[in-house]
Amino acid sequence: MLASDPVDIRGEKVYEGKAKALFRTENPDVLLMEFKDDATAFDGKKKGTIVEKGYFNAHISALLNTFLEDEGMPTHYLGTIEDRYHLVRHMDMFGLEVVVRNIAAGSLARRLGMEEGTVLPKPVLELYLKADELGDPWINGYHIAAMELCTPEELASMEAAAWEINRLLSGRLEEIGLVLVDYKLEFGRDPEGTVRLGDEITPDTCRFWDSVSGDKMDKDRFRQDLGGVEDAYREVLTRLERGRA
Ligand code: UDP
Repeated sequence: MLASDPVDIRGEKVYEGKAKALFRTENPDVLLMEFKDDATAFDGKKKGTIVEKGYFNAHISALLNTFLEDEGMPTHYLGTIEDRYHLVRHMDMFGLEVVVRNIAAGSLARRLGMEEGTVLPKPVLELYLKADELGDPWINGYHIAAMELCTPEELASMEAAAWEINRLLSGRLEEIGLVLVDYKLEFGRDPEGTVRLGDEITPDTCRFWDSVSGDKMDKDRFRQDLGGVEDAYREVLTRLERGRA
């Protein structure tokens, strides 16, 4: 797998989502994940392009996955090629979204009538079914057991990983002047049965606020037409690369 041009190793497309596409490679254990510039919000009702988002997100997610791996967290990440492609382990995804929240924003603020920015005295973990046609419904462990999406041990392992990732990422981001407001994770099972973090960790899937100004440095700039979307993604990458705010 030393090819430098992703097109050379890009096999059949196995998935195409809003922001990413997944391709087979000649190695059945490895997939190629493409980060696209396309952006959607509100269940696909708002569509657009964020210039160079694929580049920024591929690099941001690579740095954060590598950081988590170095801290002992199993992830799917194997490497980056050609700026917008990740080589990732081929996993059986659970079809779940695990959301962790430190500060009220987005759907939590709407659903519970909390003011955006309210610091939660205890962080919250939520589970959603990944199903566009159903609008990604909120579910719990009973639904997961009834749908046989994973075993109770695998769910426990995902929740433990999500909390550990909260601790690790919040600390890392604090060093670069960002507050980790909330984020969404997706996990899968590798061929050995290990539960690993998959998908991406980017401003598309996390809310990052500048710790001094409180400015939003994530996809909310696109969702809420705040402008400066590309600059925010670039700034997150720049801070991660230089290791400080
Ligand atoms: N999120 C995501 N994909 C989704 C839904 C949510 O990446 O399909 C992320 C979102 O970027 C935020 C967190 O999960 O960081 C919590 O999102 P929320 O439920 O508040 O949803 P939203 O504000 O998008 O309605």
